[in-house]
Amino acid sequence: MAKKSIVVMKFGGSSVANVERMQNVARRIVETKTKNTNVAVVVSAMGDTTDEFEELAFKLSKNPPVREMDMLMSTGEQISSALLAIAVKELGHDAVSFNGNQVGIVTDTNHSKAMIQTISGARIKDAFKDNKIVIVAGFQGMTENNEITTLGRGGSDLTAVALAKALDADVCEIYTDVTGIYTTDPRIVKEARKLKQITFDEMLEMASLGAQVMQARSIEVAKRFNIPLHVRSSLSKEEGTMIVKKLEKIEDICVTGVTLNKNEAKITICAVPDKPGIAAQIFDEVSKADVNVDLIVQNVSRDKTTDISFTVPKSELAKATAATRKISDKIGAGDVLEASNIARVSIVGSGMRSHHGIAAAMFKTLADNKINIDMISTSEISIQCIINKEDAEKAVSVLHKAFELEK
Ligand code: ADP
Ligand code: ASP
Ligand code: MG
Repeated sequence: MAKKSIVVMKFGGSSVANVERMQNVARRIVETKTKNTNVAVVVSAMGDTTDEFEELAFKLSKNPPVREMDMLMSTGEQISSALLAIAVKELGHDAVSFNGNQVGIVTDTNHSKAMIQTISGARIKDAFKDNKIVIVAGFQGMTENNEITTLGRGGSDLTAVALAKALDADVCEIYTDVTGIYTTDPRIVKEARKLKQITFDEMLEMASLGAQVMQARSIEVAKRFNIPLHVRSSLSKEEGTMIVKKLEKIEDICVTGVTLNKNEAKITICAVPDKPGIAAQIFDEVSKADVNVDLIVQNVSRDKTTDISFTVPKSELAKATAATRKISDKIGAGDVLEASNIARVSIVGSGMRSHHGIAAAMFKTLADNKINIDMISTSEISIQCIINKEDAEKAVSVLHKAFELEK
């Protein structure tokens, strides 16, 4: 008999949101299994469970302890994995569910955004020998001291990619509620077009800049180990999008996609003394508060003082502002202002490395549509503008059209 291939199938929260969807997923798993394949399934929490847990915790505390948050958040996946195993068994196939710890996913101690250190996968391989379908609770691991951790929001994608590596899987399939990776979020622009292929680099950039369809960290791992991913729908048989190292065409497209991130806020410190070492002091204080600072803009100094603005994740705004106020007093700077009505709209494409005039075209499109740009940042394959949140969806639409992405 031919050697069995190994497939990792990951199902997101919407794919298992209710009993009917769960049964649909169970059928798809069994279909794959009957093709003489070993199947390791990774599953997310049902529907919006994780958001609901978070909301509950924040009703009890403004600053819930991270260890307890991980205890709480990891339960969603434990429920869905057990239910899915029940659904598969009901179809007459043998299945077993495991949580992250049971399949040997060892992480560091960084609660809520833990990094995977090792995966043994031994239990999965044993279950394969017994011809079982294995269903793993995504998004979680355990530290060496037996503390439960989670892998950051969207972390089931990371579980899937890491398992594909550990099991040396032939394919890693990511099943979601859209038929693949689109030129932009199809919920915002209905003309968005499904891509046949996208590179790891572009997907990583799109994910980091707000395309929630894949967790950015999972793409980093897929890229490092060159694990091709197939993103597709759990509700249709249609081919999805392959995320690969290199495209099968000769030249890169200049703009591949448009992304939107509305989860950031901006802090401005006014009248900062303009002398060496001040920026270092400010950002040292902010980083001590465990805040992820991103885009930083410093204005030109006219009167020996300057304004510095930077963006932070909205969820970290309160602690970032507190840290900034503290350092502002210490260095004799002025007011600290916060704004959460911002959005980051970005265009992404590998072809930007070799094409000119793309930034100008982006700025002109926004200007023609009376959308004001507050801050600008670029990387090798993206251009990002911070704009007013009210203009966000319109900006995505007009950029999608201007760069002819629907064609
Ligand atoms: P899952 O629950 O399967 O993990 P997510 O909600 O995390 O699914 O991601 C799927 C959603 O990502 C889609 O419903 C879509 O609205 C959104 N999305 C954002 N940008 C894109 C894009 N460029 N292509 C496809 N989907 C996108
Ligand atoms: N349930 C987790 C979340 O909502 C992990 C995941 O869905 O990938 O972020
Ligand atoms: Mg997701």
